[in-house]
Amino acid sequence: MELYDIIIIGAGITGYAGAVYAGRLKLKTLVIGKERGGIIVTTDVIENYPGFKSITGAELAAKVREHAMEYRDNVKFVDDIVERIEKRKGCFIIHTESRKEYRAISVLYATGTKHKKLDVPGEKEFFAKGVHTCGLCDGAFYKDKIVAVVGGSDSAAKEAVLLTQWAKKVYIIYRKEKIRAEPANMEKIDEKIKEGKIEIINNTNIKEIIGDRFVKRVVLDRPYKGSVDFPVNGIFLSVGIIPISDLAHEIGIDVNEKGEIIINRYGETNLPGFFAAGDVTDKAFKQAITGVGDAVSAVYSAYNFTKQRGRDMSMCDGCNRKIDECVRLHNR
Ligand SMILES: Cc1cc2nc3c(=O)[nH]c(=O)nc-3n(C[C@H](O)[C@H](O)[C@H](O)COP(=O)(O)OP(=O)(O)OC[C@H]3O[C@@H](n4cnc5c(N)ncnc54)[C@H](O)[C@@H]3O)c2cc1C
Repeated sequence: MELYDIIIIGAGITGYAGAVYAGRLKLKTLVIGKERGGIIVTTDVIENYPGFKSITGAELAAKVREHAMEYRDNVKFVDDIVERIEKRKGCFIIHTESRKEYRAISVLYATGTKHKKLDVPGEKEFFAKGVHTCGLCDGAFYKDKIVAVVGGSDSAAKEAVLLTQWAKKVYIIYRKEKIRAEPANMEKIDEKIKEGKIEIINNTNIKEIIGDRFVKRVVLDRPYKGSVDFPVNGIFLSVGIIPISDLAHEIGIDVNEKGEIIINRYGETNLPGFFAAGDVTDKAFKQAITGVGDAVSAVYSAYNFTKQRGRDMSMCDGCNRKIDECVRLHNR
């Protein structure tokens, strides 16, 4: 079984950024992840990543991946999913979906998040038949149709603006009073409201989704223009995210009440050698640039950790030598 200095779990922009630094620091690195680029590839335009006035999410992720590939002597990528992490004395053993096992002295956990659902009748039944989580992926199916974005975050606002490219009308259905878009995105929303392309329905929830083969209407918990019956062809959910932290939690990594991995400013968790970065962590502002920055700090900490381990003569389980020797023997 090969031994890596660091295994990065998650091939999103955070994992890729970690790989760039790990490669430069000459750490023997493996990046494991199937969904290349992660959630950012579902984003149309990014206008707040320093150095790029405007770039698509897919382009940005591809650029960071390409950068990491420059260090291919040290960095390897595998398209796989991690199913289990085993903590051994001095090492982590990573078990994947395709029945492979990899050994590492340190781990960078960068698994991101998944979309929250509404949990209302009809949502499961009509998933991908009118209920979606990605405007960029599925918005074009709604040319000249009526769609609703559910949620009030900046991401929801961006989804709504994007969908106006195709839909004749986009409603934002939000459970609270006022949506929370960045000022620049709020300006875009206001423009679209003036053009009659976007309308916000606030203080309202969807109670049920109804259709035949595809979505036809939703039932609201409050009348809108006199009725709770609201005709709509497509629903784009942007109601929040759930951190994918279970595998880490299973080996004793501390998470907060939201399930986010608790890290310090060095990207360290409560378990030595186990680092985390990006949307899966407890940082307040989840953006591409903050994930990238955290990954860089975490990898630098991992670099110090692996160096220290060598000097401390810690044993790698199953190897029974100094880590440095162990690495050399395993990688021969
Ligand atoms: C609609 C929308 C608009 C946005 N707009 C902006 C913006 O304008 N500017 C900005 O900076 N940010 C924006 N963001 C936020 C930004 O996309 C995220 O903060 C960032 O992409 C998170 O990256 P990540 O790598 O931490 O997580 P993710 O991108 O979620 O990547 C995690 C990766 O880990 C993988 N993974 C999960 N579990 C496993 C496992 N067990 N084994 C292997 N791999 C696994 C996943 O498949 C995924 O590939 C937006 C987000 C959305 C949804």
